[in-house]
Amino acid sequence: MPEECLFCKILAGEIQSNIIYRDDLVVAFEDVNPQAPHHYLIVPRKHIRTTLDLSTADNELIGHIYQVAGKIAHDMEFAEEGFRVVNNCNEGAGQSVWHIHFHLLGGRDLTWPPG
Ligand code: 5GP
Ligand code: ZN
Repeated sequence: MPEECLFCKILAGEIQSNIIYRDDLVVAFEDVNPQAPHHYLIVPRKHIRTTLDLSTADNELIGHIYQVAGKIAHDMEFAEEGFRVVNNCNEGAGQSVWHIHFHLLGGRDLTWPPG
């Protein structure tokens, strides 16, 4: 675990977060600066820096993340109205934490294109 990784620290319980889901592969918690009524971060337990660092060994993990996103949206009852899963890769796309994560956004109308 990289010592300075914020999300590794959250996953290890060293930094407080409001965890809403956890399993063997991922943890999901509330974003500290929510952009929608529902805004969660789905984070693999495995430290992967960016989308560009994924390998074929991670294919199952990424599929699992989308399964989890749908399950959370369903269980929290915002699936039917619509939700969005977003992964920002590199600074130009807005990535600010260097441990791969997937934003799950819902609970309001989501405009397109995103900013
Ligand atoms: P990115 O900009 O890398 O796509 O997303 C990082 C997200 O992490 C941002 O939406 C930001 O609000 C969130 N974030 C940053 N620091 C913390 C923190 O300490 N706790 C939680 N729960 N979220 C954080
Ligand atoms: Zn990490």
